[in-house]
Amino acid sequence: MSGLSGTHGIVVGVANKRSIAWAIAQAAAGSGARLALTYQDERLRENVEDLAATLEPRPLVLPCDVSRDSHLDELFATVDREFGRLDFLVHGAAYAPRAELTVPFVETSREGFRIALDVSAYSLVALARGALPLMTRSGGGSIVTLSYLGSQRVFPNYNVMGVAKAALEAVVRYLASDLGPSNVRVNAISAGPIRTLAASGISGFTDILQVYRDRAPLRRNVDAPEVADAALFLLGPESRGVTGEVLLVDAGFHVMGL
Ligand code: NAD
Repeated sequence: MSGLSGTHGIVVGVANKRSIAWAIAQAAAGSGARLALTYQDERLRENVEDLAATLEPRPLVLPCDVSRDSHLDELFATVDREFGRLDFLVHGAAYAPRAELTVPFVETSREGFRIALDVSAYSLVALARGALPLMTRSGGGSIVTLSYLGSQRVFPNYNVMGVAKAALEAVVRYLASDLGPSNVRVNAISAGPIRTLAASGISGFTDILQVYRDRAPLRRNVDAPEVADAALFLLGPESRGVTGEVLLVDAGFHVMGL
């Protein structure tokens, strides 16, 4: 028996093989979970289907643009029909229009702010609401999202994504309070920088990786499988007493003053 054996989970945020959500999906499937993987739009469908085909048991692959309520309704209706229950949900969706990550923060547009907060933070509220009845049927569940230290500190060019991550971490705490009585736990992993599609939108990202290598207590960067291992802990029974938490998986970078 492995840790997630017999469980059912949804993983949102797989774009390609570098996606942190993909590393989590691999780890969860390896630990015995049956998965539903979602893709944002038709452009990414084939990628996600090809990746899903490498997992056993073969995951469901379903469309879900998290900014569209109809997609969320359809996602949970399908998962209800196919799985009849839900034990965990991984939220790895984030987006800010590229222009917002290059202008000085003070130039952030109203629309760019709205989109970043909607896709990167509100979506967790909407997904948790959809997941709740299915998790309640399972006797509880675990929800894990992905954040970054830019929520607490200023990183060059991270801009409105930092504000969105601050909102996301607050969402984690409010959801943990709301859903705790239903035995649904809600936590975040704040990962160190990892080269992914989303990261390629942050100019100067290579410099950020180097600063972490130079200054983090472990003197290195983290990789997606390390984040996935921490996610397995938060998704599984070993973390049954933990909710509302932001777990830093960043080689210790956040403890340093200089
Ligand atoms: P990624 O580009 O592989 O994943 C981002 C995902 O968000 C993609 O799958 C994309 O399709 C999805 N997405 C964007 N808009 C969406 C929408 N409207 N509907 C549904 N999905 C949408 O990059 P990643 O680095 O694996 O990012 C995953 C998460 O990890 C993000 O929340 C990111 O902020 C966070 N994170 C990344 C790093 C890093 O350095 N890469 C560090 C800390 C946290």
